[in-house]
Amino acid sequence: MSVRVRFAPSPTGRLHLGNARIAAFNWLLARHHGGCFIVRIEDTDLERAVAGSEAAILADLRWLGLDWDEGPDIGGPCGPYRQSERGAVHGAAVEGLLASGRAYRCWCTPEALGTLSSGVASARRRRGSNAAQRYPGTCRELSADRQRELESCGRTSVVRLRLPEVDSVTVVDALRGSVTFPMNDLDDFVLLRADGRATYNLAVVVDDMAMEITHVIRGAGHLSNTHKQAILFDALGGPPPVFAHLPTVLGRDGQPLSKRHRSDSLTGLRKRGYHPVAIVNYLSLLGWSSSDGREVLNLEELIERTSLDRVGSADTMFDPGKLLWMSGQHIAGMGLHELVAAVRPWLAESDLPGERAAATVAALRSRLQTFGDIGEHLHLIHPRAAALDVAHGELRKDPLARSLLEAVRTGLAAESTWEAARLGRAVRTAGTQVGATGPRLFHPVRQALTATSSGPDLGQVLAAIGREEVLARLSAALSEWAV
Ligand code: GLU
Repeated sequence: MSVRVRFAPSPTGRLHLGNARIAAFNWLLARHHGGCFIVRIEDTDLERAVAGSEAAILADLRWLGLDWDEGPDIGGPCGPYRQSERGAVHGAAVEGLLASGRAYRCWCTPEALGTLSSGVASARRRRGSNAAQRYPGTCRELSADRQRELESCGRTSVVRLRLPEVDSVTVVDALRGSVTFPMNDLDDFVLLRADGRATYNLAVVVDDMAMEITHVIRGAGHLSNTHKQAILFDALGGPPPVFAHLPTVLGRDGQPLSKRHRSDSLTGLRKRGYHPVAIVNYLSLLGWSSSDGREVLNLEELIERTSLDRVGSADTMFDPGKLLWMSGQHIAGMGLHELVAAVRPWLAESDLPGERAAATVAALRSRLQTFGDIGEHLHLIHPRAAALDVAHGELRKDPLARSLLEAVRTGLAAESTWEAARLGRAVRTAGTQVGATGPRLFHPVRQALTATSSGPDLGQVLAAIGREEVLARLSAALSEWAV
């Protein structure tokens, strides 16, 4: 049996780190087993759907490199992959449950049930955790005649599950072992709403069966739905999948990441230029560790090592500092050309041609934790004209600077190959000629070229500025003595 897993986001906002972690783990496990990774959009709760959210979620998954084999945009053998388009499948499953007596129609009005109409109450109802409002079973045993009568007066009905007569339900979770839920906190919960739309629990189970999902891997927050879903799998005659509820990830504020929809959006990290593989790598380590203790792993290594065996069940903490560090580690491992392409969007304004962009990135790469960091360091090579003017004015106060800068200009002008190591040597040779070494050499040269007294390796800086511009900056500095 091949592994089939799904990521099932509700289109209620952008992808955040909590969700992305679920997607990443499912994806890694699918790729590890050569199985199938499916994206299914859970949009039966139309009131909570946010326009554009599906496209944004898919774009962020793509950016992370988590490609899917079946999904709403590409289809597949078990489609459609948007729950709102699967009404007929959900309806047919409900008909089957009605026919077998595992479900029944209920005509009770919300008023009759004393149901509160506030948003909080309906949110609770959706999750089925409103124990105080347990359905008393009014319509459970209505005769066929009474049902026809109610139907003929045009009253709308919902469909409820007939709970089995057992004391408890036990679910096996791959990370937690057997978890037993008492039945007395459940009632005959609604499967089909009055408008014919499936509820969350029904849609999830029907679709997991129809899509032949073998492993349901999701956040620990969903453990509290699992007994309802296990009952439904049984009622629908399907074997339950392997359930694995990944440990909750808490932010510094103690809130689960999954509850903090506004912060930690993937889009935000993408705009700042985090390395996408570093995000997948970091997220994979929340609750899981590689057997050899290595933490910085590329996708291939992650795929090879990921398994459910080494996932814990205790809550884990999100550490933004470590995520940033991880991004820096992955950037450090990139080839120069790949890195230049990755930082391009942040270099756009500087208008650097290819060769100088590459030399600039080579000089600054050790300072980058995100691609976006390049913007912060760019002035170390390409300062503002005004800053150079000020630095050149200051240099005139240094009596040794003139002869030094002249020697450096002559030395560099004579270089036939504009290459970092050679340029560094040429500057040192020029310094020796005029008796300047160490800071007395480098300080004025850096000031003249970049308006700073420290920065990346000087040879690399020269290579990145480019021959013509280096000579022009030195001449501009020397022109201070001409006035
Ligand atoms: N749609 C649910 C969510 O966004 C996921 C349900 C599931 O994985 O079973 O949290």
